[in-house]
Amino acid sequence: MDSVSRRKVLALGALGGAAIVTTTTNAASFGNPDRPPEGAVNANPAGLADPGPKNPALSGQFPAFENPPATDVGDMQLFWSSFNNAPKRIQSGGWARQVTKADFAISDAVSGVNMRLGPGGVREMHWHRAAEWAIMTNGRCRITVLDAKGRAYVQDVGPGDLWYFPAGFPHSLQGLGPDGCEFVIVFDEGDQSEYGTLLLTDWMAHTSPELLAKNFGIPQEAFKSIPLNDLWIFQGKEPGPLSSDQEAVASAGLPEYPFTYRLGASTPFKQNASGTLHLADSSSFLVSKTIAAAIETIKPGAVREMHWHPNADEWQYWLKGEGRMTVFDAGPRSQTADFHAGDIGYVKKSQGHIIENTGTTDLQFVAVFKVGEYQEVGLSSWLSHTPPSLVAQHLNMNPEDIERIPRDRPGIMPG
Ligand code: MN
Ligand code: MN
Repeated sequence: MDSVSRRKVLALGALGGAAIVTTTTNAASFGNPDRPPEGAVNANPAGLADPGPKNPALSGQFPAFENPPATDVGDMQLFWSSFNNAPKRIQSGGWARQVTKADFAISDAVSGVNMRLGPGGVREMHWHRAAEWAIMTNGRCRITVLDAKGRAYVQDVGPGDLWYFPAGFPHSLQGLGPDGCEFVIVFDEGDQSEYGTLLLTDWMAHTSPELLAKNFGIPQEAFKSIPLNDLWIFQGKEPGPLSSDQEAVASAGLPEYPFTYRLGASTPFKQNASGTLHLADSSSFLVSKTIAAAIETIKPGAVREMHWHPNADEWQYWLKGEGRMTVFDAGPRSQTADFHAGDIGYVKKSQGHIIENTGTTDLQFVAVFKVGEYQEVGLSSWLSHTPPSLVAQHLNMNPEDIERIPRDRPGIMPG
């Protein structure tokens, strides 16, 4: 280190450590805190050049990474990911792609799968270690599932509908006409892979013919044409009427709770001129004991207010529009990232966050939490329910302004 840069480092250390008042242009100011100064506003313009190499189509997606606000500080584990650049596994009946903890290190509570099934396309009968929550984004799908008491449930779902299969419950999915379906699955384990599920065909092919005959009490010959390789996603025949399938499996009665829920058609949890929050946790979607979820719609310019979740990480799937999220953690650490449709965001339990609609159309994302009960703490709620003189002493604000902070947990605030 040369003597000039050594002096700079020492000076920065003094500023950060002892809050020395200084008269340089880089002194801490409102909107430009000084720990040490970060952001283009603090830089020598010649140091801002970024001659490349770069891929403009890709780098253009991340203006907040390219030029972070001066309020961003410190390092933070990457909380942006996407299905847009996840490789598809395509088979005859449709495709799937996934983002697990192996792909997205911060996502250790849940993993995500994006799947499309054409009309008649079947996701093979299977089960797995993790519970499966899903939201439909396109078309129609028929689900089948069996509970641990041998009771079957068959239902058709459309856009905005959810399903939830408890861990280990066997199930299948099939796209319906005319357009098939697309959906996003969230597993309640970060390392659950759609490529690592227990498949009906695999077990049958890897059980001896003698044992198959004994197990089912029918001759070996009955099994002589079973597939020798698994099907995973395959082109099937479109099913008949829902009622026929339901009657065909009804002999043991219905499960205790439905395994589907119409989240998109539910009464909003919050609604105002700036947006809407729909919520489904185990208090409304009774079977969903390990996953709570919200669909959040934010109007152009509006913000999802500063808040955190005391009981779970938040996994986001961005459905439409564009926006910018800043996440805050101890340190201090604060980092801003841009999101578009098809992207995934992740916020660790109790980390503060704010989301701004930076586009010209509605921003919508689904937030998924690995927990039975949805919980949220809002900054405005806290500041408006703490003795005002105490808040004033912390923030050096006028009591009249503190009085104007919303008291009703608005959720979304206008731009
Ligand atoms: Mn599954
Ligand atoms: Mn949140």
